[in-house]
Amino acid sequence: MSQISPHEWLKSALIMIMTMREDDAAKWEPEKLVEFAKSFSVDALGFSVAGITAFYPTEIPLHRRSPSLGDRDLVGETLKALNEAGIKAIARIDSSLVPRGMAADHPEWCARDEAGKLISVHGLYVACPNGGYYHEFAIKVVREVLGRYAFSGMWSNAAQFSPWHTRVCYCSNCQSKFRADTGHAMPKENWSDPLWRRYNELRYRWIAEWVELMDKTIAEVRPECAWMPLAQVMESWDHSQKGGWDIDYTAPFADMVILEAQRRYANLWWPGVEARYMRGIEEDKPGGIVVSYFLPWWRLYSVPEPENRVWMSQVVAHGCRPWLHVTGFFSEHFDRRGLEPMRKMYKFLAKNRDAYDGMKSQADVALVYSRFSQDNLNGGQPEPAYINHFRGAYNAMMQQRIPFDLLSDKRITPSQLGKYKVLLLPNGACLNDAAVDALRAFVEGGGRLIASSEATFRNELGELREHPLILEFLGAEDTQTVERDLKAAYGRIIDPSHFLFEGIGDTDVLPIGGDLKVLKGPGTRADALAYVPPVEGERGSGFSVPEYNFIERVSTYSLAMTAQVKQGSLVYFPWPIEQVAHHYGLADLFQVIGNAVRSTPGWSPKLRVTGPGFYDVALMAKDDRLAVTVINFSAPGSFNSGHRRLVHEVMPVSEVQVEIRLPEGRRCRSARLAVAAEEVTFEIEDGFLKARIPKLTEFETILLSLE
Ligand SMILES: [Zn+2]
Repeated sequence: MSQISPHEWLKSALIMIMTMREDDAAKWEPEKLVEFAKSFSVDALGFSVAGITAFYPTEIPLHRRSPSLGDRDLVGETLKALNEAGIKAIARIDSSLVPRGMAADHPEWCARDEAGKLISVHGLYVACPNGGYYHEFAIKVVREVLGRYAFSGMWSNAAQFSPWHTRVCYCSNCQSKFRADTGHAMPKENWSDPLWRRYNELRYRWIAEWVELMDKTIAEVRPECAWMPLAQVMESWDHSQKGGWDIDYTAPFADMVILEAQRRYANLWWPGVEARYMRGIEEDKPGGIVVSYFLPWWRLYSVPEPENRVWMSQVVAHGCRPWLHVTGFFSEHFDRRGLEPMRKMYKFLAKNRDAYDGMKSQADVALVYSRFSQDNLNGGQPEPAYINHFRGAYNAMMQQRIPFDLLSDKRITPSQLGKYKVLLLPNGACLNDAAVDALRAFVEGGGRLIASSEATFRNELGELREHPLILEFLGAEDTQTVERDLKAAYGRIIDPSHFLFEGIGDTDVLPIGGDLKVLKGPGTRADALAYVPPVEGERGSGFSVPEYNFIERVSTYSLAMTAQVKQGSLVYFPWPIEQVAHHYGLADLFQVIGNAVRSTPGWSPKLRVTGPGFYDVALMAKDDRLAVTVINFSAPGSFNSGHRRLVHEVMPVSEVQVEIRLPEGRRCRSARLAVAAEEVTFEIEDGFLKARIPKLTEFETILLSLE
């Protein structure tokens, strides 16, 4: 029997998904739909099939057919038309809402709020993922759909707790499952209550249980059909946390890992976060990211093309495939300007598969995203508590143009760490014992750990550790003192020739801020950067009277502690350097973080990119192909208006110099610019291939063919 997965095609597939409104059956013309999909060069089309609304003549009692379906079978007709066009079909189901009639028969399938009331959305009721609607009804639907139709894939929408921004579920199923696991009644939301944090962790596990059940069912009914449950990470933490989405737990039961990046108020680099994070969890499975051309609330109105190109190029640059979400296609009122640029982008991707498909990152640096820290440091306010620290480190790597990967805190294992020379752990406080052991082995074996603030100080549930790894490495003790919310404080550079200050220039001081942890022990004595208490009048004001604006005292406390640990090393900042750098846009602090990476013994850069602007870079390879993608984030109008302003224009950069270290023993046969669609000349110097991107607009990929 062949060992090749039947889902291999998804690794290079271009996919479009269409969500149908309940009454779209009246206007749904399969031929027209397939023509439209074909014009995008897609390999597969996903469309709404069942769940809230059935678009086929279902036999399942109370499974609501679209009111305008009549006696048609739109699913069958569409499948036939797709088949004739050589396009694969993906079924979309939604099991988030229970119709009224069914809720009357099965009230125990519905989510209930704390007062025991059903939760109503559009006249339907929210279903609980622990109830029979998910575990019995949805399974019946899957059996019927896949028993009748030859779908190549199935994806689920909104399979989560509290969908559509609704309340926490306190139904009897949730109550009894929680009691069985913990022996306690379900608590109220309170992030300082350890019991609530356990509930939060269980919610992720419960969703994974259902994903596993679906996986088994689909594999049994139609094994060639790929199961692709949808989730989100990081920027949409409020949604994924409440929903119980953790792809660490669900990815093992998915044939393709799918994340969504549709919220345009999130940082412009969010698609890159999701793509990198997914690759760090399942490098060998196909990965897709749902992108759209509209704003979440104005779904019929399109956002500008440059914004969409910067958005989507990150998905492909980091080794994932885009899933283009089209909605309202049958609407009479529609903004047609959004589609043509996407069609152009898809055609480009179809033509340049060799530049993106199946490529793997060659980064030597991994940045940890810790979902445990996101939730268990202060799950109610995770942005200031944790996410802003991560964002800062992510931006530091972008600003320093260092290729890097993301690693989930649950994948800090010896085999994953073995790929890297440097690991960044910005305020990664909450880690499990296995991760701590793997970190210790990584550093002792020659790796460099760059950490800050509370990194390693707690277990995965947020409880303080007695012997945090950072203190073990430094031979230090925690005084339990924290200088809170520092403003107008400085770091005094003690030794300008220290590796952390390479390229900083002629300054004695650097700005510092945030909460400073006070440790004690010989390793905490400043030899590079010493703490200068705030120069301010009233404590905490951040302001000083000009007549008194001078540094009175430089302490001996170190703001940048370093330690040699067997073969490896630690650089530890007892304050949130990444968060402060990101918040104020302090390039010097980004430079210090970059220097901490580049000074790693044995470090030799694989990529250097020179030119003005702010970029994301990806260094990817497969077999005899090596690709560097540079994504241009230089856009005017970046005011903070309470929302991230949309990108209407990216400032083109001329003459971006790219230097790529050729792998040992390989020569470059040819180099091509994918977007400009032309060959590019190059020189070889000291093992580096040097080439120029004459004009970088939103993005460009240099594809090398090696021999
Ligand atoms: Zn429930």
